[in-house]
Amino acid sequence: MHLSAYFLPTLKETPAEAQIVSHRLMLRAGMIRQSSAGIYSWLPLGLRVLQNIIRIVREEQDAAGCQEILMPTIQPAELWEESGRYDGYGKEMLRITDRHKREMLYGPTNEELITDIFRHLIKSYRDLPKNLYQIQWKFRDEIRPRFGVMRGREFLMKDNYSFDLDFDGAKRSYDNMYVTYLKTFQRLGLTAIPVRADPGAIGGDMSHEFQILAETGESEIFYDATFDELRAKGEQPDIETLRSLYAATDDEHDPAACPLPDDRLRTARGIEVGHIFYFGTKYSAPMGAVVTGADGESITVEMGSYGIGISRLAGAIIEASHDDAGMIWPESVAPFKVGLINLRVGDKGCDGVCSDLYAKLRRAGVEVLYDDRDERPGVKFATMDLIGLPYQLIVGPRGVKQGVVELKRREGGEAEELSAESALARLVPAPAG
Ligand code: ATP
Ligand code: MG
Repeated sequence: MHLSAYFLPTLKETPAEAQIVSHRLMLRAGMIRQSSAGIYSWLPLGLRVLQNIIRIVREEQDAAGCQEILMPTIQPAELWEESGRYDGYGKEMLRITDRHKREMLYGPTNEELITDIFRHLIKSYRDLPKNLYQIQWKFRDEIRPRFGVMRGREFLMKDNYSFDLDFDGAKRSYDNMYVTYLKTFQRLGLTAIPVRADPGAIGGDMSHEFQILAETGESEIFYDATFDELRAKGEQPDIETLRSLYAATDDEHDPAACPLPDDRLRTARGIEVGHIFYFGTKYSAPMGAVVTGADGESITVEMGSYGIGISRLAGAIIEASHDDAGMIWPESVAPFKVGLINLRVGDKGCDGVCSDLYAKLRRAGVEVLYDDRDERPGVKFATMDLIGLPYQLIVGPRGVKQGVVELKRREGGEAEELSAESALARLVPAPAG
């Protein structure tokens, strides 16, 4: 992509309404635009990040044996009357009346709809277990939408729902999602802390929130100091280690029952990026989601639901990874891998080297944003630092004469001069095998 043609409406001024760094940076980099409170359009740069998050979440869901479906955003109120949640859900639910005066709603979550699909289409124990997911917009009329996409009213969620014959099956499904979430967040460049959360009416220990530490987080969590030590070492801890460590939300944390000595207990703010939940027959019983067992008996299925805040993650990753100059994208979600900077557009040598590098990177499947604008170097560096692509490939007249270009890592800022061929070799992944 040539930056001169790219729709990248960057702002010079810091938008006054943005209170936290991710919101400021997303607006300044032209990633999103608010259309009304808590409702955003995603512009090209932002959409690329969102799609990368979607891709990773989808790959991990598929790898875990979940199957993708797509349910509508608009749901009939009757389903929620059947489950008993219609009145209780309150003002967060956007209620809509259609032309026939039927009550509808914009889904804040989909337990009712998926249970309805299940009860009509799945009848036998032989069809279980099933775990179905979707990536779909939700609407919650939050009392205080804020922090940009972190607490929106319309937001993108990956939600999935497991169906099992009995508790043991449901626990296997839950554990499968627990592990899948840890892997998913690791691939997104995040260290998520799995935190014990309010298990609701059912009890037990089968509700976890996945929290990213950030001062601007809206949750307060208590956790084992080992999490900090693992993070400081830059290690991706194995999942059994993570599972064995204490972490709880402020609601769940009970100082009297906490197994940690005082000097090993930490408290911090967190951003909830995911939530997994076992709820047994809470929806399947009232809505009649039953299958026929091996001996012809009726079995009410055991369910769980699992959510990842996809649009919130775009903000959360920035909260976790930025500096004064701008964002620092982990390679897995970066909107482009390389920013190619031509320091003197119009200079034959620079233009030639840049065109050649651009063509070769593209041919090798490396996503590159080429700053071919007729702008001062300072402006170009500021733009590239702001949008935070993992690598900057800088081509200037002095280097071109000496046969070198500069390759700089956005994270850490290490730069080195090398030949165009060596730079390419660094940026193009080696063929598999
Ligand atoms: P919160 O406590 O932040 O309000 P929640 O517990 O109501 O979230 P869930 O119902 O567990 O949210 O939804 C699953 C995931 O969807 C959350 O873990 C979060 O990442 C995301 N999410 C929830 N509400 C919003 C929102 N208003 N804007 C963006 N993402 C959200
Ligand atoms: Mg939650």
